[in-house]
Amino acid sequence: MPADSDDSASTLPTGTPPANLLERLVSLGKQRGFFFPSSEIYGGINALYDYGPLGTRLRRNIRNRWWRSIVELRDDIVGIESSVIMNPQVWVASGHVAGFSDPLVDCTGSCRKRWRADHLPAERAARGKAADAPGCPECGGTLTAPRQFNLMFRTFLGAVEDSSAQVYLRPETAQGMFVDFKSVLNSSRQRIPFGIAQNGKSFRNEISPGNSIFRTREFEQMEMEFFCEPGTDDHWFEHWRGERFRWYVEELGVRRSRLRLRDHEKDELAHYAKAATDVEYLYPFGWGELEGIANRTDFDLSAHQRASGVDLSYLDPVSGSRYVPYVIEPAAGVDRIMLTILMDAFDEEIVRGETRTVLRMHPDIAPVQVAVLPLSKKEELTVPARALEHRLRPHFATDYDETQAIGRRYRRQDEIGTPLAVTFDFDSLQDDAVTIRERDGMTQVRVPIAGLEGALRDQLIAFRRRTAERAGSGA
Ligand code: ATP
Repeated sequence: MPADSDDSASTLPTGTPPANLLERLVSLGKQRGFFFPSSEIYGGINALYDYGPLGTRLRRNIRNRWWRSIVELRDDIVGIESSVIMNPQVWVASGHVAGFSDPLVDCTGSCRKRWRADHLPAERAARGKAADAPGCPECGGTLTAPRQFNLMFRTFLGAVEDSSAQVYLRPETAQGMFVDFKSVLNSSRQRIPFGIAQNGKSFRNEISPGNSIFRTREFEQMEMEFFCEPGTDDHWFEHWRGERFRWYVEELGVRRSRLRLRDHEKDELAHYAKAATDVEYLYPFGWGELEGIANRTDFDLSAHQRASGVDLSYLDPVSGSRYVPYVIEPAAGVDRIMLTILMDAFDEEIVRGETRTVLRMHPDIAPVQVAVLPLSKKEELTVPARALEHRLRPHFATDYDETQAIGRRYRRQDEIGTPLAVTFDFDSLQDDAVTIRERDGMTQVRVPIAGLEGALRDQLIAFRRRTAERAGSGA
């Protein structure tokens, strides 16, 4: 066993997140390279973020897991990639040009801040004031009357900068699926019911972005439009409501006790929606939307059919009936899921009088699955340890680290959520065996190098089972 390993830990009960969790994650995110403000050397830019090496790995894992469960493991959903800039008529027909706006109020007092009128009660409460206190949440100054502010970013296509060349950065990926509906139907063998999915960047000039990467102005969405026959839409809405909740618990390992499904009240529904439910997570700043599931009816296809003059109806080959399909949409955000996973996984415990920070992440989501650590920096250990890491690379997401004492390196891997660490020590040179140390219980086992891949796979299976139990029980 490595000399200064950290087994025999005296652990405190886990599960209570620290009060300043968001701040802790922002600092961890920067220190370990998950996320940090964009263009930081120029002072940053409001509500835009960059993702570092670990954050990029984590985001890819989230995206891939979504794609796998929504597209690859099903035969009734196909994927597309539509352009970010589309014909501006798309956004006229969809209602975004006229109505994709939030009510904006300005403070005329000392702070001159801008607020979303519908966020004022929460902003006041966050500052310890009564939700219905008059005036600006920050300085108490008089607020202007609300006016509608369109959230779409505008730019120009081509060399001429006049209104005829004005285009928009998409505020959602969904419209790509509606506009391409006919092309996908004609080019694939899909028949209704079926879905079209895509993930990619969306842009919203949010009035009050905040809570780090929870609400930003450039973000990534994962959306799926499921086309079905009118009359079957309630069934499919229920199906996707349940399926999406399950996904967070079983496939991302998010604790059930911190998740809920919240149905929208009738007066809260978007104009196009017959029903909507949010998957919500209990953030330190309260329950917040993680994903929205909406029954969008035939609103979008009918609107595009009217505006484009192209027939977007569907002819059922069996019954011979023709209809404009209804659509059920689960719409999620990669950035919010990333923040949620980091928050949900964050834990602290006392080990040998020191605080150990550990991200108890699902082993298939963690940016690094297996870290290879030589016990010392001596070449007789680093050369074979590095070779071992190269051997494992095709099979696992690996990392190699030879800096600092082994205990510090374990802590560093705990902090980024690495489930397994393989330690190559002086005995390894004699017995052709290494130590596998697992993140959660810090237990260690000695295994022969010859069968290392299999032993690691077995450990990851056990990890998956434990993660599922923890997420399901909500502990
Ligand atoms: P909110 O009410 O929080 O503004 P929304 O209802 O407008 O969100 P949708 O249009 O349903 O959001 O978008 C689907 C998903 O896209 C959201 O659940 C969220 O995960 C993500 N998302 C939306 N806006 C943002 C944003 N500004 N920053 C990060 N993620 C976002």
